[in-house]
Amino acid sequence: MNARAVRAGLAVLLLALAPAFAAPAAASDDRTLFVAGNVEFLLIHELGHLVISEFGVPVFGPEEVAADYIAVAALLRQKQAGGERGDRARAYLFAAAEALNASWQRGQDAGADVPYWGAHALNIQRFYQIGCLVYGSDPVAYADLPARIGLPPARAEGCPAEYARAARSFAWLLETYGRPDGPPTGHQIEIEYGATRSRVQQDLLDELRALGSIEFTVGRVNSLFPLKAPARLVMRNCGRPEAAWQGATRELVICYELLDTFYRLHGRVQHLEPGAPAARSGR
Ligand SMILES: [Zn+2]
Repeated sequence: MNARAVRAGLAVLLLALAPAFAAPAAASDDRTLFVAGNVEFLLIHELGHLVISEFGVPVFGPEEVAADYIAVAALLRQKQAGGERGDRARAYLFAAAEALNASWQRGQDAGADVPYWGAHALNIQRFYQIGCLVYGSDPVAYADLPARIGLPPARAEGCPAEYARAARSFAWLLETYGRPDGPPTGHQIEIEYGATRSRVQQDLLDELRALGSIEFTVGRVNSLFPLKAPARLVMRNCGRPEAAWQGATRELVICYELLDTFYRLHGRVQHLEPGAPAARSGR
């Protein structure tokens, strides 16, 4: 594992602390969307690392924060395009936020060490970053979101401008490094699914593949960014729940253990979408 893989592993360390507990009574569709949303968020986050390293994209501040902003901006862009995929993108964003909040709460309840020194922002900070950008993208539709998640008015006030900057930066990324109109000129990312190790993993993988989000997202990157060499998205068991872009081998690895982690974590999430009961804030 290279340094980035280790850092990515740390990102999900708190998630890994979620213990195995009995399956909740929630609808499996809801849980599938939750798992799919979190896999999608991690996938776009890691594709963000891939694009940043492939093209030497200049980044101010931690690359981990930039990768999160890329993931949120990409999903908000899909959401705004509307339709079924737009609805799903919105559900995925909330799923990612809910997982970060739940994993933080889980770590707090367990008395886990807080990695203040980490390359990533703390999970609870990543949760608020997503909340702020979602609110900022549509302050009217999400008028009650800041109060629901405990985002103070003074911070919420700046979120529309923060969202506008993120959307502008994402558009710049596409314009600057994206493929001009015309036939594809770059190499592609191939997808490889390794063997699963449990019924739960296989069922979740089948459901994810039926949704088609992974193929859609990788297809978008293939059509937008002319890569300099072939790359692979490899989904497999790794021995720990992590996701990482490994530049040396040009592999973006998403470990199946993450499916187990999100499957279990779903039992303790507090739903944040409008209409759901108020969340327990992370303060
Ligand atoms: Zn990362």
